[in-house]
Amino acid sequence: MQVIAKAQQAEGAVGQAGASRGIGREGPSLFDGVDLHALAAQVSTPCHAYSANAIRERIAGLQSAFQGLDHRICYAVKANSNVAILQLMAHHGVGADIVSLGELNRALLAGIPAEHIVFSGVGKTTEEIASALAVGVWRFNVESLDELQLLQEVAQRHGVCARAAARINPDVDARTHEKISTGKSENKFGVSIDEARRWFANAGSMSNVLLDGLHAHIGSQILELEPFREALTRVEAFRRELVDAGHPIASVDIGGGLGVCYRKGVDHPIPAAEYAGLVRVVFAEFQGTLVLEPGRYLVAEAGILLTRVIRVKPGVDRSFLVVDAAMNDLLRPSLYEAWHEIVPLVGGDREPARYDVVGPVCETGDTFARGRAMARCEAGDLLSIGSTGAYGASMASTYNSRPLAAEVLLDDGRYAVIRRRQTMAEMIAGEQLPQVWNET
Ligand SMILES: *Cc1c(COP(=O)(O)O)cnc(C)c1O
Repeated sequence: MQVIAKAQQAEGAVGQAGASRGIGREGPSLFDGVDLHALAAQVSTPCHAYSANAIRERIAGLQSAFQGLDHRICYAVKANSNVAILQLMAHHGVGADIVSLGELNRALLAGIPAEHIVFSGVGKTTEEIASALAVGVWRFNVESLDELQLLQEVAQRHGVCARAAARINPDVDARTHEKISTGKSENKFGVSIDEARRWFANAGSMSNVLLDGLHAHIGSQILELEPFREALTRVEAFRRELVDAGHPIASVDIGGGLGVCYRKGVDHPIPAAEYAGLVRVVFAEFQGTLVLEPGRYLVAEAGILLTRVIRVKPGVDRSFLVVDAAMNDLLRPSLYEAWHEIVPLVGGDREPARYDVVGPVCETGDTFARGRAMARCEAGDLLSIGSTGAYGASMASTYNSRPLAAEVLLDDGRYAVIRRRQTMAEMIAGEQLPQVWNET
């Protein structure tokens, strides 16, 4: 975890005993060997920076935890869909879990082979199914009877056979934020085991769908093994039942959801080896391929959002640190009340202070932290917001007409811009004054 250590060293400038570290404006604040002050000066802020080595470590860690098991990792593209990140995944043999044609295009462009791509999502349209069949994705994770019937129809029309897995809603509480919980019966995802049982019973009547897989994804940012144990045990019991009833199952997709550390000392992620250990025990009798769909786990802690203080605004009972990143660059705090470490990359000689860290967007919800203790800051100071590699840039918008931030990939002391900052012209490209008024 050398890269992480470097990142923490940079972040530790204030978070812990900053005074003794001597990391300041003049000294380097290194992330994957890159000096963040120089980076911010060259690329400007706000800017998402990702450590290639941290991502590689996560991939390798998961791969080694599952070594010896017939498995495939299909990275959940929505966590961070930058093509360069996807290419990094492709280079390490990681496939993709996609939920739209946009993600399919990105994955293929990045060099992820179609046969390593699984297609999830409750709202697949005729067009999406047709396109995915045309390029030959590995499998569809089917979430409703209507979708299953549509898949049969479209596959028949195209004269191909679609591979499908039934997404089971195992009705377990993932004990995570309600907005990222997906495996309770009240959630829109998947179908009950009772319904899936009927699908398999009728599977023989589908000429162009091979229904031979199971899928379950119960939520995101899961920090306890127990919900996984409950869900996977149910899936495995159902799999055995299906096999006994004459329905062979070639693949079981256990979804994503592995949590990461946003708040040191508070979030204790499940070690990959423990997760793999559970999977080995639960699926000891399963002969097919296990599919993993990690998103956050592979990229979250590999990313930081660099932002600069625009000004310090004293309030009646608190001080606001107004920074140049906003909820449009990182939505998680506004959407989920998510905690992200915020570390001023300043010298260790600053006094302690407490701030509400806010962006310039005209919303009270545009708040990264409330009453956060950190070093005293002044205009121009550089801050690092931690663990923003997942659901950061991929959830970004241009709200308040703020162009999308730049993204850079860091690798052993070098960096490459993997998304240049959007220009004003690019932001409004596609918009036009009414030129032709059409009759419908
Ligand atoms: C979002 C999602 C994932 C990834 O979730 P993480 O918590 O980022 O690992 C995996 N599978 C499906 C079906 C998803 O919707």
